[in-house]
Amino acid sequence: MKSAKIELHLHLDGSLNIRWAYDKAIAKNVIDPNTSFEEFYKILYGKNIHHSAESIKKFELVCDVLQDREDLFEATYDLGKRLNDLDVIYAEIRFASQQHCKNGLTQAEALKAVIDGAAKAMEDMPIRIGIINCLMHKGDSASFNQKENLETIEASKLYFGKGLVGLDLAGFENNCEFSEYAPLFEIARKEGIPYTIHAGEMGIGSHILEALAMKPNRIGHGIDCIQDESYIEALLAADMPLEVCVSSNIKTTGNYSAHPIRYMLERGLKVTVNTDNMIFAKSNLVNEHMQLKMLGISEETLRKSTYDSLEAAFCDQETKRYLKEKLDSIYNS
Ligand SMILES: [Zn+2]
Repeated sequence: MKSAKIELHLHLDGSLNIRWAYDKAIAKNVIDPNTSFEEFYKILYGKNIHHSAESIKKFELVCDVLQDREDLFEATYDLGKRLNDLDVIYAEIRFASQQHCKNGLTQAEALKAVIDGAAKAMEDMPIRIGIINCLMHKGDSASFNQKENLETIEASKLYFGKGLVGLDLAGFENNCEFSEYAPLFEIARKEGIPYTIHAGEMGIGSHILEALAMKPNRIGHGIDCIQDESYIEALLAADMPLEVCVSSNIKTTGNYSAHPIRYMLERGLKVTVNTDNMIFAKSNLVNEHMQLKMLGISEETLRKSTYDSLEAAFCDQETKRYLKEKLDSIYNS
């Protein structure tokens, strides 16, 4: 192994093998059986306004093929294998158990299937995997799916320390008041479950302050911090790790140089490098590192970012020691 990478922000449903997803979508009547692979490909990869209603529909489509235990297991195993092939030594794979109950699975069963898929991948390969379960922003108020979000926490409590490593808040972040989710994270904090929150990804920088008020362990994206100096200062004061996903953020423009990651690094923010969605961002962690090198970000900065990822990872201390040895053997030998 010549490199070793750590992925902290990767959505299972957005990172499926597209051929596998197509075959499942046809077999399960998720799409019209006359849809060709090329048409399916266009639906997922075609023109996309980031996190528009259209984009959310794409997530619904890939979620619809993941409604059974076997498929969740298989998809997680396959993702673990592809990550292992990319020299990813540790990945936190996230999904929202409440999105996978349309065929009668409970959230706990859906979570168990994903955890089992990850466990099998770890049995067969050197990669280590932790699962993050996502609470969801839906509707225009947290009360819209409060019941499902509470079930997400209950299911996660069952598996915390047994494959599940943390919680997240995902979905269309501009729909709701962040503070409405505070009671849910209060429960997580009492249970000792770490959590990250998608915030400051979709154009509203003040969400970063609202997320920080909920005392997360990390923030997903956070790139809108550049809108106001006070947001940057708040992140620096909290020494908050940010899960930055460059290709995902610029996918509508393709303009890497316009992304604020370089400025964020220069300001001393704790930037970790991640992929978000291998399908929708048409990327993977190897590509992310390559694009950043092309932007002039040094090997040394990227190495530091990988060690920051390790420090910010939600896994247990024993796993961290194992991963640190692996990183040291590659980067400090
Ligand atoms: Zn995300």
